[in-house]
Amino acid sequence: MTQKDLLHRFVFNEEHIRGEIVQLDYSVKALLNKGDYPAPIRDLLAKMASAASLLCATLKFEGEISLQIQGKGPVSYAILTATNTLTYRGVARWDETLEQLPQTFEELCADAVLVITLSPNEGERYQGVVALDKPSLAQCIESYFEQSEQLLTRVYLYSETEQDVKSGGMLLQVLPQSSEATEHQEAEAFHHFATLADTLTADEVFSLPVKTLLHRLYHEHDIELFDAEEIRYACTCSRERSLAALLHVEKSELLSIVEEQGEIAMNCQYCHATYSFDAIDVEALHAGNVATQNSASPQH
Ligand SMILES: [Zn+2]
Repeated sequence: MTQKDLLHRFVFNEEHIRGEIVQLDYSVKALLNKGDYPAPIRDLLAKMASAASLLCATLKFEGEISLQIQGKGPVSYAILTATNTLTYRGVARWDETLEQLPQTFEELCADAVLVITLSPNEGERYQGVVALDKPSLAQCIESYFEQSEQLLTRVYLYSETEQDVKSGGMLLQVLPQSSEATEHQEAEAFHHFATLADTLTADEVFSLPVKTLLHRLYHEHDIELFDAEEIRYACTCSRERSLAALLHVEKSELLSIVEEQGEIAMNCQYCHATYSFDAIDVEALHAGNVATQNSASPQH
């Protein structure tokens, strides 16, 4: 069986422009199987999975990047978090009182913003917010890069969530420049490459090997394609992390929950794993006998 959950990075050797192509199959099926999502939400989450996969490849630290849609419209909350080790997880909530959800991205994400958070394991978090006022998620992410990093960026996102479940995406980005003269030159090359990429179809991205795709688009250019990297669906929740979250609650309050309910049950919003804690756990936590940092073990 061909490995389908892959991230491919490449550079144009003669221009300061880099690219990525992501092809997701099993991982996005696993993501969508975690919830009973209506069609427009499945489609949104599938595209967010490709977007987060493309963005996590740009991380220059150990940690996570999350794309979070927060709104008061049909989609109230959707989050996709990806790690520098190329795993991702996600979840979405929507207005369940609506008989039918709108089909277009703009209507679905009306009255919402996109929050992009970079969370290094060590160091400060960085958060950027962009309006979801473009016709597609891809365009909103492009404007995030324009605003926050002043880097010319083109993003393409594709999804198939009815017959089969697949997602894919492509990113083109000008690398940070040293002079204005080269910047102008790179911008010209960038627009040329983007115009060619506009002709890609979802089917091609889902089914063709990346070498073939790149040859089809850019055979006249000198491209270096790096080894493909596997990307997986994985939740980073763990018993230790869940317990650590209870540190912020008073010990007496925790003990009274155990007394009333027999246990403290915590449910992971992403993968629905349940962790249960008793009075002994609470005592150990507050006695400082619990490793509460960097103790996450990925769950499948
Ligand atoms: Zn989980």
